Amino acid sequence: MLSGCEVTVKQNSLVYSNGQGYSPSVPGSYSHQTPAKVPPHQSSGQYNYSGSQNVSQLNNYQGPGQTLNRPPVAPFSGSPVQQTGPVPQVLLPALQNSAAVSSAGSFPPGASPPVLSNWQYSQTPGSQPVGSQTSHLAHVTGTGSAQPPSSLSGNTNPPGNYQYAASPGGPPLQNSYMKPGSAPPPVTQPLTPLHPPARPPLGPPPVGGPPLTRPSTLIAGPPNTQSLLNSAANREGCCSSAINCKYLSSLPLATPHPSPAPPNLKMNRSVGYSYPTLPPGYQNTSPPGAPGMQASALQYPDGSKHFHQPALGTNHLTAAMGGLSLQQEGLRPVNLLQERNILPMTLLKAPVPNLHEDIQKLNCNPELFRCTLTNIPQTQALLNKAKLPLGLLLHPFKDLSQLPVVTSSTIVRCRSCRTYINPFVSFLDQRRWKCNLCYRVNDVPEEFMYNPVTRVYGEPHKRPEVQNATIEFMAPSEYMLRPPQPPVYLFVFDVSHNAIETGYLNTVCQTLLDNLDLLPGNTRTKIGFITFDSTIHFYSLQEGLSQPQMLIVSDIEDVFIPMPENLLVNLNENKELIQDLLRTLPQMFTKSLETQSALGPALQAAFKLMSPTGGRISVFQTQLPSVGMGALKSREEPNQRATAKDIHLTPSTDFYKKLALDCSGQQVAVDLFLLSGQYSDLASLGCISRYSAGSVYYYQSYHHKHNPVQVEKLQKELKRYLTRKIGFEAVMRIRCTKGLSIHTFHGNFFVRSTDLLSLPNVNPDAGYAVQMSVEESLTDMQVVSFQSALLYTSSKGERRIRVHTMCLPVVTTLSDVYLGADVQAITGLLANMAVDRSVSATLSDARDALVNAVIDSLSAYRSSVLSIQQPGLMAPYSLRLFPLYVLALLKQKAFQTGTNARLDERIFTMCQVKNQPLVYLMLMTHPSLYRVDNLTDEGALNINDRTIPQPPILQLSVEKLSRDGAYLMDAGSVMFLWIGKNCGQSFISQVLGVPNYGSVPQNMTHLPELETAESIRTIAFISWLREQRPFFPILYIVKDDSPLKSSFLQNMIEDRTESALSYYEFLLHIQQQVNK
Ligand SMILES: [Zn+2]
Repeated sequence: MLSGCEVTVKQNSLVYSNGQGYSPSVPGSYSHQTPAKVPPHQSSGQYNYSGSQNVSQLNNYQGPGQTLNRPPVAPFSGSPVQQTGPVPQVLLPALQNSAAVSSAGSFPPGASPPVLSNWQYSQTPGSQPVGSQTSHLAHVTGTGSAQPPSSLSGNTNPPGNYQYAASPGGPPLQNSYMKPGSAPPPVTQPLTPLHPPARPPLGPPPVGGPPLTRPSTLIAGPPNTQSLLNSAANREGCCSSAINCKYLSSLPLATPHPSPAPPNLKMNRSVGYSYPTLPPGYQNTSPPGAPGMQASALQYPDGSKHFHQPALGTNHLTAAMGGLSLQQEGLRPVNLLQERNILPMTLLKAPVPNLHEDIQKLNCNPELFRCTLTNIPQTQALLNKAKLPLGLLLHPFKDLSQLPVVTSSTIVRCRSCRTYINPFVSFLDQRRWKCNLCYRVNDVPEEFMYNPVTRVYGEPHKRPEVQNATIEFMAPSEYMLRPPQPPVYLFVFDVSHNAIETGYLNTVCQTLLDNLDLLPGNTRTKIGFITFDSTIHFYSLQEGLSQPQMLIVSDIEDVFIPMPENLLVNLNENKELIQDLLRTLPQMFTKSLETQSALGPALQAAFKLMSPTGGRISVFQTQLPSVGMGALKSREEPNQRATAKDIHLTPSTDFYKKLALDCSGQQVAVDLFLLSGQYSDLASLGCISRYSAGSVYYYQSYHHKHNPVQVEKLQKELKRYLTRKIGFEAVMRIRCTKGLSIHTFHGNFFVRSTDLLSLPNVNPDAGYAVQMSVEESLTDMQVVSFQSALLYTSSKGERRIRVHTMCLPVVTTLSDVYLGADVQAITGLLANMAVDRSVSATLSDARDALVNAVIDSLSAYRSSVLSIQQPGLMAPYSLRLFPLYVLALLKQKAFQTGTNARLDERIFTMCQVKNQPLVYLMLMTHPSLYRVDNLTDEGALNINDRTIPQPPILQLSVEKLSRDGAYLMDAGSVMFLWIGKNCGQSFISQVLGVPNYGSVPQNMTHLPELETAESIRTIAFISWLREQRPFFPILYIVKDDSPLKSSFLQNMIEDRTESALSYYEFLLHIQQQVNK
């Protein structure tokens, strides 16, 4: 089900190809279709190894993040020819590819063949190729069996559904973007830029009126007039000022209000090490009949209610409906100290932008593209006032169950800024469309007049490119700098004594053997192997050999490649030798006593081997590298774990980063699998993956006998890794409407030019984030758009472009900004910024910044939006979960204090924060808790004849636990099933399969598959949760006396721990600061 086979269906010129999902059909997997586009001028130029990601030092939050200071100059206006990176430039004849694909074109041949101009500016005005190339479209449908919810499945939007265009020859079309009755009346995009003389895409907006919002008396950020060159950095400052601003303490004091705070609460702004005493009697009260538990079942002290418990009714409802983004609800002030049941019972959904429904229904799925503020502030001053970060979170290569694929020799893009035509452009008439990013008016190419879906001529607005916010194009040859590379996979194995001792090689080789035929690829796929200890071993897999031949290179100071031609071999042609090697490898080193690890030289060798083609290196390492280049020394001092100071989050050498940049230049990505029981300096090693766009996997204390549950995890995750979709030699560019500016990127990649991310490999499990600022006032704009375009080579050797476009409304008031706040996206972006801050400054700085983000935004809300000052801690409804999520971040392994997190574990969590899509980051930060001993089929999902119970989500507090229940905590990469001491006999016997509580094994990690309804339900639920993610969460069954109980309790975010505040204490602290 996993490989990306594509099936071409002749019908309607549509190609249905399979997305590759873990389980594409599960609810929640995306089946929305949207047209997308990829930026053609992906290439870019010169590449500078030094200084790389930090183009400019920022005052705040720079860190190792890939921070950029975008020059105000339009990147594409000057000399257009930019070359992509180091790749040899080989331009294929333009027609080579299109000929093949255009055969089905039915449009009468027209004019000139596609012009092969330079790759950035291939579309010469007026000379658009009009030839025989009619497009066919393709649709990608899910692989899995189950179909996504009907509303999302299906074809492109039915033609005619969408009233976009006027009649042919009619007056220019106008779009009314906003919902009727909302906000400003429809205004057409400014007409001034109708024919701007090649206006730079990112130049100043057409109209630069004064900000609509009057700066408050408390203007905090730098003035808008800051010089452009510095503005990015300053904005960055603003951004972080949202997090770290000090001036708010000078805010006019709100009248002090009586609050339930205990009198002795004393804290300064930073959450330090001294904590206030627990307010007497504060408890998370659970409303009678709270979902999933009987009131009578509460075994924990309930304490007196210290605060007024609001009536259940509406709050309860709204909490449950959280995410539906009822606009009227969005601004309702919530007194967080009073309203405790704010956690929705189902996973929180992204807010829906306030756009006209015709527009919104075409908008990009928030799982792919999401903004922290779904109402974009019109000016930077307004953004500064809101004290919320503005940024995008992307999951651009997510497995999709449906993806329209367009095969056309002409990809329609804005001649000025290279934006791909998308659902949010406007058609002035049938022959002209106006770019929604730079407002340039462009001609509609002749062949775009034909709609291959409806087979009707004269309706360009109904083309799939204009009907889908996510779309993929088959790229013609102008998008290639060289012939698409073959899939090349190189595996590099640590075979030192330590490595062999863990037994990992058996698991990896066996899993590889099992999945060899499922590696994404084609007849050109190549594969190779290197092993190393203190020396480097190569394996010749030359055709004709009766068995693989091992070649040992002991000169690790000056690594060379023996017989390079036989080390990476064609997978199909040499399969037997390869299988032979995989069967033999685990035994070959069992007697080895070599303890040294020459990881650095082995990576250098791997790089040399891969340089000519590009591809993927998978490195398995089990210890600190000790000899040769890149050798490291232990920096972990166990006694210092407890403090947030002086921990080594930065690399101790730049060897791995430099090598990664070399790799990036040759289209090679390195994925690191660290399986280690000892400190291995992941802070240094991780750079090899980070800058080469690879991934990091970490299996702490991996051992085949002592830690068998890790073996299963490795097997499952490796299978996903080996068989998931992969894109090679990729670049990604994100564009936004002029006036907005992107300045900092988060994720694993190298920023090759100002805004071009170099991704030697792209995988469907990687997420990215960017920070933005409002460079120029968005006056007169009703909406703005964002477009990401990912150009990559598929494992079948096709050059493809996946484009996502999102449209959001612009607002002029602070209350509207808050109304559209997406609290999860904000939390995710802040977490990324906090990682940078931890590395560039200190962990405690990062923690303070997180806390200040809450204080500052709620202070601004209180002083500038709330008309009536009320006692308590007021938050707009949209941000009601903000303090909870930030507290959860503070307790997360990446940012927590205390003795729990080992250094590598902390670093790994930081890697995850940077590289995971938002949905997993949120789960890892704020786990979901369910009661599972009373699962029913009520409200259950039905997928493929499976019934999946959907128990409500509970607050993360022990008060939600009843000793006679059983609870599942889903923390993303790990799950805990906590069994109460008095748990019902039926659950114990029907689900756990043991006679009584006492006989539940201490280290139980699997549920037996029993023929009981209870067992079937429980297993169905857990399996369903697991299927929806690319990693495999281990399930720990936890009893009261279990050693894992503390890990379980650590995740009870709302409760107090030795080193961290309870939620209520945290709220009191925030309130105190807000009221200052
Ligand atoms: Zn444009």
